[in-house]
Amino acid sequence: MEDYVGLLQAALAFEDVEVWDEHLDNLAQGEYEVDCPYCGVNLFIVMGDDGFFSCSDDYALGDVEKTPLRPTAPAELEGLAKQLHDQALADGQPVLAQRLPHLFGQAACTDCGTVFSVADRVVANTMPSW
Ligand SMILES: [Zn+2]
Repeated sequence: MEDYVGLLQAALAFEDVEVWDEHLDNLAQGEYEVDCPYCGVNLFIVMGDDGFFSCSDDYALGDVEKTPLRPTAPAELEGLAKQLHDQALADGQPVLAQRLPHLFGQAACTDCGTVFSVADRVVANTMPSW
């Protein structure tokens, strides 16, 4: 899957989508780290064998509160999200394709309950603060 992400990254670099270029590595790993837009707590966004959820502590350490992710229906994906999803399916990458609707869906903060767009937070955590 990592090889395939490399191909997608090359395609994105060509289209000048720099933010997603580096974040597709995380998609292959199935984990993003973002902060809550309301209370600022660090959250892990997990998409993998353990399920699709957000949590505020290191989930690998054991029993932490998990909130299920709220994926966008694949048919409702738009723009870059749809493009990536269609591409992954067409190229026989169902695991990656399954993660994209979650990346472009919503998550809830385990601390304050604020619901936010995962992709927006990923981008916001990447951009330099002006
Ligand atoms: Zn919060």
